[in-house]
Amino acid sequence: MFTADLIVMYHGVVPDDEPLDDWLQVPASRFRDQLAFFTRWFTPVCVETFFTTPRKAWQKPRLLVTFDDGYANNLTVAAPILQEYRVPALFFLATGYLETPWFWWDRLQASLATVGQKPSPALIAEIKALAPPDVEAKVTAILRDRGANPFPPPTPALRPLTWREAQQLASLPGFAIGNHGHCHEIFAHLDDTALTHTLTLSQRLLTERLGVQPTWIAPPNGDWRRDQIDRFAQLGFQAIFTTQPGWVTRRQRASSPVPRVFPRIGIGTTDRPFDLAKRLLKTRLRQTVPTGEGR
Ligand SMILES: [Zn+2]
Repeated sequence: MFTADLIVMYHGVVPDDEPLDDWLQVPASRFRDQLAFFTRWFTPVCVETFFTTPRKAWQKPRLLVTFDDGYANNLTVAAPILQEYRVPALFFLATGYLETPWFWWDRLQASLATVGQKPSPALIAEIKALAPPDVEAKVTAILRDRGANPFPPPTPALRPLTWREAQQLASLPGFAIGNHGHCHEIFAHLDDTALTHTLTLSQRLLTERLGVQPTWIAPPNGDWRRDQIDRFAQLGFQAIFTTQPGWVTRRQRASSPVPRVFPRIGIGTTDRPFDLAKRLLKTRLRQTVPTGEGR
């Protein structure tokens, strides 16, 4: 059962005194508890080791920690804790949001909160289906319709990284950068021209600004299509990180062709170590091969 390894997916880690209602933004003390659990039962490794070095028979299951989106709190809050626990990590950045005050979903949530509302999952899904130029306009229109302030003061804990901060993150030992598209477009909704555009633009920015050329990609929301795999391969990607929950089995690791498709288990605020252990075990017992169909 434990011949499999594990890839976990985080989004953000926030100070304990930050009043946020977001499962994806884990308070720092809970994050510490989770890392204490992981380092006890797993061997945390960096992404290169995860893919290039076979696991020794006597080793504990290996763990690869990933973060999606590119929140500044990955550097300011999560990174020092990761370093304290000696846990390497891979950060998937949506390059178009760097240097901006908000990801659109956080702006929507914060604005609607000013009029006592929350965005419904249906509304979020509707916006995600739009082409990138229409997303901000749609969000602004919804907020005006509902009488919410379309430009509330940003929440510092949820701002995206600046490029300078991304450089700092990329330069820390054991930390690596991956591609999460440019405008966080949902790949499943893109034609080949639009997909190629977002991937080449984000790769170019990551190369020019950070000096890296990621071979790892996490399609935003985990939504992509099997017919897009040739394009990923052509652009040099070797591994696709999905949001399909599961452990990484030996068979998946050895599967061909490249790029290989890997499951990830999302971790959030409610994951106390005991509940987390139960969830991981349950996932392993129900394991299926990922098909590749979150944020
Ligand atoms: Zn995302």
